[in-house]
Order: sequence, then structure tokens, then C-alpha cells
Amino acid sequence: MAIVKANAYGHGLILVARVLEQKVDWFGVTSLEEGLHLRKQGIKLPILVLGYIPLSYLEQAIKEDLSFAVYNRSVIKKAEQIAKNWSKKVKIHLKIETGLNRQGIRVNEVLSFVGLVKKCPSVLLEGVYTHFANIEDTLDPSFAMEQLRSFRQVTKMVESAKMKIPFKHTACSAAIILFPQTHFDMVRLGISLYGLWPSKEVKMAAKENLNLEPVLAWKTKVIQLKQIKKGESVGYGRTWWASRVTKIAVLPVGYFDGYDRKLSNSGRVLVGGKFAPVVGRVCMNMIMVDITKIPNVSLEDEVVLLGRQGKNEITTEELAEKVGTINYEFVSRINLTLPRILI
Ligand SMILES: *Cc1c(COP(=O)(O)O)cnc(C)c1O
Repeated sequence: MAIVKANAYGHGLILVARVLEQKVDWFGVTSLEEGLHLRKQGIKLPILVLGYIPLSYLEQAIKEDLSFAVYNRSVIKKAEQIAKNWSKKVKIHLKIETGLNRQGIRVNEVLSFVGLVKKCPSVLLEGVYTHFANIEDTLDPSFAMEQLRSFRQVTKMVESAKMKIPFKHTACSAAIILFPQTHFDMVRLGISLYGLWPSKEVKMAAKENLNLEPVLAWKTKVIQLKQIKKGESVGYGRTWWASRVTKIAVLPVGYFDGYDRKLSNSGRVLVGGKFAPVVGRVCMNMIMVDITKIPNVSLEDEVVLLGRQGKNEITTEELAEKVGTINYEFVSRINLTLPRILI
């Protein structure tokens, strides 16, 4: 299952889905809207909605043949009603709570859920799954293995209750990379699908022959060049002052686009293959960079915000660290409206 939630981690939902359509068996999304959008664009593969679908919208999910995560009894009851009305079947995946304490059915409640599913002839159990709490955050897998034990206990319980489970699944990227015993019938590949490591720890622990290449580059162009005098300031709040004659390039990207405001006076971009520091505050739609040391920059020259240019590279991890977050958040917040181009 390719996880394409959050606009495919910012990479572009439909673009990524088209690339992967022939290569994966499932798509995983978080919301009904994402699932419907995939269907509207003609994606026929099975789709699992991992998040929550409000009861009043279940009808749409069922109409479009979306499978969904279940962890509330009322969802099963409502789904049965709707499906029965239309003589359709609904495919559900029971989400098991094994320690993340996010959505999920607690282990001692699983059998009552199974009982309810059995009473609902239009509701088909398609999967049982869980999600790890700290598998990418530590080199100590003991809690993840405890979660795995609870999961196995649950699947045994379900099967003893004479319920077949077509898909058991637990593994996110870190689990896929490090722990084959988590793979079961399906894995849910997210961040590493995009060539990004789930964490430093996973990169350290992974086999040396595993190489991930980021697939995303984020680019813009120079929209104005100017030279300012020593002693002038740049940007809102006048937070940066020129200590010498300075050449500035203005770029049409700002925090609206996902270029976090915390990159004010700390980010850097690539122009002409060289690093140019962000000077002054990141504005809503623009930033200014210092290109004094970079010769021959012209209007509309390509600027790399994320990715390679010449011999140099700006990684998602570099920017995420400067902003105080993780690569997941940085890429997923690149504004939905920016064009994604497949190369
Ligand atoms: C996001 C998500 C994944 C993918 O995790 P990665 O670490 O990005 O591979 C898998 N399963 C669930 C339930 C998720 O929410």
C-alpha cells in the first residue's frame, strides 16, 4: 500500500498516484476527500481511508467503493444500514489499539466488535491493522515488539471467532526497513516511498545496501535583483542589516507556500550552484537572499529551495531541523496549489 495522504506527503496526490498505479496494490489516504479525489481522477485500485469519515458521509465512501478504518461501533451499524439499502458490501479494516493511543479498538473490546461485524451481513472484514508508536524514534524496538505481540494476540482472537482476515498489516516505513516480522500480508509505505528516511535512527540501523534518493526538488526563480548599501536593512521588522554593499535576489516564495517563517535569517537556497542565505524575515509570498558572492545571477535564474543544483544540495532534513520539525512535516506543508511537475 502506497500511503498518499497529505497530498502524497506534499508531492502531489494525483501525480504520485498515476506514477504508482501500476506498481502498487493499494493506496492509503487519510480522508474521504482524498479517496474521492483519487476515484474522480479515475484511480481504480483499492483505497483505504485511514482517518475518520463522519457518519453522514459514509454513504459517499460506500458508493465509491472506498475501504475504511473502523474503531467505532456506530460506524459499523451505519455502514450496514446504508449498504443493505443498496444491496452493496462495505469493506472495513479494524484498527487495533496496541499502544499509540490514537484511533483504535482496545484489545479487550475486539471480540465485541467482531460480534457486531458478524451481525452485519453487508459489512465485510477486509483487514485488521495497527500502527507503531515509536518504531522510528529509537534504536530500542522493545515497545514496538510488545505492540506486535498484542497485534498477534488480536488476530488469533479474531480467527478463533471464525473470522477470516484477508489483510493483516502493521508496517510503516521504519518497520518495513528494519523488521521483516512486521510485514504480514501488506505493508504501508509512506515517507520512504518518497526517498526520505523516517529518522536518523532508522538510517543508522538500516542495512548499508539500502539507499534512498529524495524524489522531490522544489524550485523557484529570481524575480528581481538589487544592490543595497552598507547599513540598509532588508525585510519586515528590519531584522537584517547589510554590513557591506550587498546584492539581493528577491524570490517569489514565502510561508504561504510552505517555506516556513522560522527560516527567516536562517534558511539558504541554491543559485548558480552556490548557497545563498535568506536575509530578513520570510514574508507571506516572498523571501530575499544574499547573492553578493555569486557571480552572474540574472532575472529568472533557477533557484533551488530543496534538492540539488550543481554539486550542492539542500536536504529536507536540513530545513526541517532549522524549523524545529521533521522531514514529514516540511514536505507535507508545501502548498497544495504549487504546480508539481513530473520528470
Ligand atoms: C502515515 C501512516 C503510515 C506511513 O508511515 P511512514 O512512516 O510515512 O511510512 C502508515 N500507517 C499509518 C496508519 C499511517 O498513518
